[in-house]
Amino acid sequence: MVIELPITGRCYCGKVAFSSSDEPQAVAYCHCDDCKRSTGAPLAAFAAFEVSAVTFSPDGGKAFRPRDGVTRTFCETCGSSLWARYDYLPDQIYIPLGLIDQAADLQPEVHAYDSQRLPWLHIQDSAQRFAKSSQSLLRSSRNPSTETVQ
Ligand SMILES: [Zn+2]
Ligand SMILES: [Zn+2]
Repeated sequence: MVIELPITGRCYCGKVAFSSSDEPQAVAYCHCDDCKRSTGAPLAAFAAFEVSAVTFSPDGGKAFRPRDGVTRTFCETCGSSLWARYDYLPDQIYIPLGLIDQAADLQPEVHAYDSQRLPWLHIQDSAQRFAKSSQSLLRSSRNPSTETVQ
């Protein structure tokens, strides 16, 4: 992935902007029911960043806990989903691709929860498909040096 840094983005109304000093650790589609509800779309696509690389201005939005272990936020003015974090991956933050200015250069490499994909939704690509969570991949992508050694 060759991309100019920082990576930038904003919500629909522009009140919340963000910037990442580092490229994403993973880029994925998610077909899970939570993501469908949360985005209102037939699937979600997001980039996973190292938490410490990302800054929001003026802040990261209004937070809520839709269920145990998950925090999501949204822009209080326009309602755009801003980010999600999972308690089991405390160093990662997930930002919807649709908010990101450089989304054209961030092709998803994974389909998470392909088992919950809507039957009429067909995306022809060579991205890896996981029946459930892609957390094993997300975890390993946090530590690329270990991956190379194996
Ligand atoms: Zn907004
Ligand atoms: Zn999901």
